[in-house]
Amino acid sequence: MSGRTAPDVVVLDIGEIVIDETRVWTVWAELLGVSPATLMAVLGAAVSQGGDHTDAFPHVAPNVDWAALEGEHETRYGGFAASDVYADVVPALSALRAAGRRVVLAGNQPERRAAQLRALDLPVDDLVTSDELGVEKPDAAFFAAVLDRLGIDDPAQVLYVGDRVDNDVLPAVAAGMATCWVTRGPWGQLQELPEDVEPDLVLEGLGELPELLAAWHDGIVDGADAGEAAGRSGEKGDA
Ligand SMILES: [Mg+2]
Repeated sequence: MSGRTAPDVVVLDIGEIVIDETRVWTVWAELLGVSPATLMAVLGAAVSQGGDHTDAFPHVAPNVDWAALEGEHETRYGGFAASDVYADVVPALSALRAAGRRVVLAGNQPERRAAQLRALDLPVDDLVTSDELGVEKPDAAFFAAVLDRLGIDDPAQVLYVGDRVDNDVLPAVAAGMATCWVTRGPWGQLQELPEDVEPDLVLEGLGELPELLAAWHDGIVDGADAGEAAGRSGEKGDA
């Protein structure tokens, strides 16, 4: 825990923080001709080895040109739906705003997702995608562009909340932001922190976030150890 005051702006990643991506992968499993469980197991193995779906898809369906199926995937998936929003999102974001914090969504998403996200009418002050910013995480320019859009000079005023160590935690720490790692979804479950990096908060979901931020003063969160809360304190090297 760094010795600083609670951030007054909370910027949240989108995939696996706001949006449960289960349907994305389930539709891909249908198109690739394998069960969702098989695809997820192989995707997990790929993520564990530092890879992603581009490694998993050819493994489960070596004779399928999956890139040629992206249009069909989009048709079947149909874009973000209200049912894809994790149940803890609206209560947590509403509580953060009620406490006077600015709440913003900013993550890597293709062009078509921005309008779908805005249509969900989530309780946020702003929402921006990598496509709109013209730069993607983990590029440092993404985090600089977010600060610029928010009109914020001091990155320590911002808590960045994400599920991926490589795309969220590490670049947000490098940008000088406070960080919250939410260990849900394939990357959140499987990626590991480098020994010399400690996010300010490590949580399993967003439910506790408003309370922990309210209790955060001078870098101390009263009555809660974030690493313990996630049940992974040993791995995270918490003091
Ligand atoms: Mg994500």
